[in-house]
Amino acid sequence: MKTLIKNVYLYNKTVDILIKDNLINKISDTIEDKEAEVFDATNLAVLPAFYNMHAHSSMSLLRGFCEDLPLFDWLNNIWKREATLSAEDIYNGTRLAILEMIKSGTVFFADMYWHHSEIIRAVEEMGIRANVGICFMNSLGRKTIEENFDFAKNPTITKPSLVSLSIAPHAIYTCDKDLYKECYSFAKKHDLIFHTHLSETQKEVEDSLKENSMRPVEYLNSLGVLDSKTLLAHCVHLSEKEAEIISQNGATIVHNPCSNMKLASGVFDSRQARKYNCKIALGTDGNSSNNNLSMIEEMKIASLLAKVHYLDSEEGNSNTVFSWATKNGAEAVGINAGEIKEGGVADLMFVNIDNEKMQPNYNIISNLIYSADTSCVDSLMCDGKFVMKHYYVEGEEEIIEIAKRYK
Ligand SMILES: [Zn+2]
Repeated sequence: MKTLIKNVYLYNKTVDILIKDNLINKISDTIEDKEAEVFDATNLAVLPAFYNMHAHSSMSLLRGFCEDLPLFDWLNNIWKREATLSAEDIYNGTRLAILEMIKSGTVFFADMYWHHSEIIRAVEEMGIRANVGICFMNSLGRKTIEENFDFAKNPTITKPSLVSLSIAPHAIYTCDKDLYKECYSFAKKHDLIFHTHLSETQKEVEDSLKENSMRPVEYLNSLGVLDSKTLLAHCVHLSEKEAEIISQNGATIVHNPCSNMKLASGVFDSRQARKYNCKIALGTDGNSSNNNLSMIEEMKIASLLAKVHYLDSEEGNSNTVFSWATKNGAEAVGINAGEIKEGGVADLMFVNIDNEKMQPNYNIISNLIYSADTSCVDSLMCDGKFVMKHYYVEGEEEIIEIAKRYK
């Protein structure tokens, strides 16, 4: 399968791009290919699509359900409501989330939730990528924990698929050390991503010091569960030593600035993490603590938060934040995307440069981060196939109609 993208704006010039199967085959001033399906991209700019590295997609059903509470009070309310959600609800919530992600230029999300087969079904139907996290907590009970491991051994994934799995112990305050070790050894044995929340609040740090005589990162490091296939969501409260441990292990910190601000968790110390060369990616977290899944908005807030936190305009540099939202996430899950280059995976976002928020165009990255909103995203290609063309996603009307039933 070949797609020829004609007259697309790439950084500072207009080019043609040939997509062959799922890869960028050629980028040149002019390309002709009679066998290729042509996509006229006049007045569109091509950019790498977003990788949302920490989400709870089905929580889209809980958007606006519980507001203005700190993390632990908020979680208690959310858990009660989540206990009432059926498998069908999870499927509907995931589809709503994926629709929102596609409309805002996201081709991948790293998820963590329940009813995994429903999440996988929604992802496969809608054609984007996901790393679906099998969530573990001691309170699930041994039977459910075993069922989760069984599912991870034999998931309902249709091959070939853009879905992969992760083993996702929820957090150090919901999983004991034996469960963390069991999850990690399973992830290693089956070569899966390991995804957990860590060091999100000051309370988590204080409790860890009390219970383990170690800070959260030191504690997980002592269990031997950190490596280059680990995603650590939040990492708001890190000591210098903890930043160094994360860097040495090659784990990726997933920064969730909107959620950290909304739940009053604190400010991630991006300057310290960069000082220790930690890998950093960006995520939205779930829709009930954000309350949208726009990586454009997440980038802007990440950048502005860093500037105001350090009172230093060089912090939150737009190119750095853009790589957190694209390339760094793709790298963390081993996908050769996040850059527009020949041989790279064709995960591409097409932005309307005739939109009033995109002109004048001195710098398209800064326009995208500081000026654009999701209305600037015209089309989206995932793995060489369009999942949105000129603002339309197949089945979007039905997804919205179903979402209206929830309130
Ligand atoms: Zn989360």
